[in-house]
Amino acid sequence: MSTKKIGWIGLGNMGIPMVKNLIKAGFEVTVYNRTASKTTSLQEAGAKVAAHAGDLWSMADTIITMVADDAAVKQIYLGEGGLLAGAIAGKTAIDMSTVSPDTSRQLAALLAEKGVDYLDAPVAGSVKPAELGQLVIMTGGKKAVYEAALPIFERLGKASFLMGDQGAGNSAKLATNLLLAFNMQGLSEAVLFAQEKGIAPKEMLAVINESAVANGITKLKTANIVNQDFTAAFALKHLAKDLRLAKEQGLHTPGGDTLYDSFRQAMAGGFGDKDIAAILPFLSGLKPAHHTNNTLAGS
Ligand code: NAP
Repeated sequence: MSTKKIGWIGLGNMGIPMVKNLIKAGFEVTVYNRTASKTTSLQEAGAKVAAHAGDLWSMADTIITMVADDAAVKQIYLGEGGLLAGAIAGKTAIDMSTVSPDTSRQLAALLAEKGVDYLDAPVAGSVKPAELGQLVIMTGGKKAVYEAALPIFERLGKASFLMGDQGAGNSAKLATNLLLAFNMQGLSEAVLFAQEKGIAPKEMLAVINESAVANGITKLKTANIVNQDFTAAFALKHLAKDLRLAKEQGLHTPGGDTLYDSFRQAMAGGFGDKDIAAILPFLSGLKPAHHTNNTLAGS
């Protein structure tokens, strides 16, 4: 497989910086996005733009999808005029979205019938690591296909791993995001508890970030909490989706159930398009009677 010509579908928070890195590295990238206006900045950065997703088969050796969820990937491959119908043998398809391992296995099997190799290669790391080419990539698929894709992964990420057959990348990703949800919920509960006791979030976060319980998430989300800026880098709806997928894959632990309910309720409460750090204002509003101060004032 040659990896120099890439067709890319999905220009959201993650897709745009990832494509920019590939262009900088010298890959010839042709992009397609459902909302065409999002292709403008990529065109300026040197990407070609395809009018239809299906055009990418003839314009690229490898097609990468980085879209919202299972429904989106299935729409792109199996929907009317979808990629599967026009698939060209000998090409490679890589899905970097976080989706169900079942979806990865289904698409891998359908594409194999057309002679197309498939990898699921979801990522850990948000917009900043995507911009810096510092993502962590967990892959499912055949070793030879994975190795051929390494020049792409090496540009997008600081580390990549082959976890097993197709679907294994997404199993690893769901486990990672279960821990992410624990971190975000735990951090929020600790900050809110401290606030009830009269300690401002800024002061509490300074302690947390110097202590043994500090981690990448406590540090990354401190500014969001202190500034009450919940603009999405990683939208809460996507983490709620990942917890649902983990539940569908058999997650049955007490913490997993609690997190699933918490993020699902936050989404129903209108926090879905905000950052995952918005689990804090959601939790803050849950039991107002227990909070002496329901805002983050004083931070
Ligand atoms: P996003 O900003 O919400 O962008 C979603 C992308 O999917 C957009 O390009 C959107 O197209 C496209 N899309 C959605 N539904 C579609 C459909 N039915 N048909 C075609 N295209 C569709 O998402 P993101 O933050 O970039 O995340 C992308 C994936 O990476 C998700 O699976 C997410 O869980 C995962 N992820 C995200 C982060 C993060 O920090 N953001 C980190 C790790 C993994 P339009 O522009 O037309 O809406």
